[in-house]
Amino acid sequence: MAALMDFDKALELFEPVIGLEVHVELNTKTKMFSSAGNPANEEFHAAAPNTLIAPVDLGLPGSMPVVNREAVLSSISLGLALGCSIAPSSRFARKNYFYPDLGKNYQISQYDEPIAFEGSVEVELADGTLVEVPIERAHMEEDAGKLQHQGGSAGRIQGASSSLVDYNRAGVPLVEIVTKPIFGAEERAPELAKAYLLTIRDIARSLGISEARMERGNVRCDANVSLRPRGASTLGTRTETKNVNSMRSVERAVRYEIRRQAAILADGGTITQETRHWHEDTGETSPGRPKSDADDYRYFPEPDLLPVAPSEELIEQLRARLPEAPAAKRRRLKAEWGFTDLEFQDVANGGLVDEVEATIAAGASPAAARKWWTGELTRVANAAGREATGIVSPAHVAELQRLIDEGTLTDKLARQVLEGVAAGEGSPREVVDARGLAVVSDDGALIAAIDEALRAQPDVLEKIRGGKVQAAGAVIGAVMKAMKGQADAARVRELILERAQA
Ligand code: ADP
Ligand code: MG
Repeated sequence: MAALMDFDKALELFEPVIGLEVHVELNTKTKMFSSAGNPANEEFHAAAPNTLIAPVDLGLPGSMPVVNREAVLSSISLGLALGCSIAPSSRFARKNYFYPDLGKNYQISQYDEPIAFEGSVEVELADGTLVEVPIERAHMEEDAGKLQHQGGSAGRIQGASSSLVDYNRAGVPLVEIVTKPIFGAEERAPELAKAYLLTIRDIARSLGISEARMERGNVRCDANVSLRPRGASTLGTRTETKNVNSMRSVERAVRYEIRRQAAILADGGTITQETRHWHEDTGETSPGRPKSDADDYRYFPEPDLLPVAPSEELIEQLRARLPEAPAAKRRRLKAEWGFTDLEFQDVANGGLVDEVEATIAAGASPAAARKWWTGELTRVANAAGREATGIVSPAHVAELQRLIDEGTLTDKLARQVLEGVAAGEGSPREVVDARGLAVVSDDGALIAAIDEALRAQPDVLEKIRGGKVQAAGAVIGAVMKAMKGQADAARVRELILERAQA
């Protein structure tokens, strides 16, 4: 394990500089350069290997790429939402390297003429502080396929005896958003990385150009980190930690790299410019490959594609259609929902604004929606090592709350129902029926249980008649226990009091 310096100590000696590269998968119907399907996550992941492909995606001889118009429109919208200028003419370029998951042996990307450049995005930190993150460019490119390593442990290449390749993802449209080096975040650099990623995700969702589910790999982040001695004016050597695919991980990875690099530098060592891998289980990074300079990719303009030249008019149409920026939207929602600063930050920091909004739209009160997402759902997600957003849908949460409000479920029963929903047993209503979890408010069943409890505590009715109404508590408790928490406690109490008066 690498030596690590205490984080505060590292910050005393060095200034951290970070740069973030975020890939957003677009939800276009077809691929970037072919007519092969690009279905939504669920269908995509259910597809058999190498069924979502066309000759272009395999680089077969004679096949020619055609630019996907929808992908261009989505990229322009994203560029505009990031405050970028849109290039009147931008070009695709070939990035050459050998890797078996790209049949052509080059990736069509953009290099010196990206579609969008020079922007900035407003990012809100956990305590509400606003930070402007400068954007260098956003460019279009195609995704690569996926290798499946066989015979090793946990699908890793180490120890594998062979590898299979699935080209379904090859050619899926991506936009890569690259920040300029970000200075001045200081000890909040890890937190800023996380908040930035969350903001990009929210922007992509608000534009409707991506499902933007991090746990599905729709949004992926490479985190560049370097340190320089306090007072230095040149940048230090950076490392690029690849594919940190959750908001929590990006924060941890940046923090880890700051501590690791500081220990090396303080010891008189040098940082190797390299890519690094993030290990979710140990919370460490490990060396990947030495990082090539752009020259090594032998970029050259893609001869099979014309430049993309959107008209001024088209750009203005797309600009007019931009949704409210997530930061502005958050301010509006906070007021509408009547949350305190802390309540709202809880929601925002969990990346749950959209979920709470959708849950309210599905009928829950703002307070109930907030409690579910920041409370029980976050707890369940953390325990399972997943994102809360991947566990249940907002509609299900609203339904669960409705079942509580109408008395079908107690809070406790609702938590059991949630387990069933998270396990894929169906909607809350279906889980209630299948598991028989509804609160029993049928008087017949309740009276039978009360009679049973009264036989064990025959003096209770006398006590109640004598004015000690709280004596009913012991009987309510016994009834609840006998009915495994499924009795309607309020009705049980009424029935006991009625009995005492009889
Ligand atoms: P690459 O092709 O190596 O991925 P990019 O230009 O796509 O290069 O992205 C590099 C990222 O690293 C950018 O976000 C850039 O701002 C950032 N960056 C460049 N130099 C440094 C540095 N010394 N320290 C931290 N970040 C850096
Ligand atoms: Mg890059």
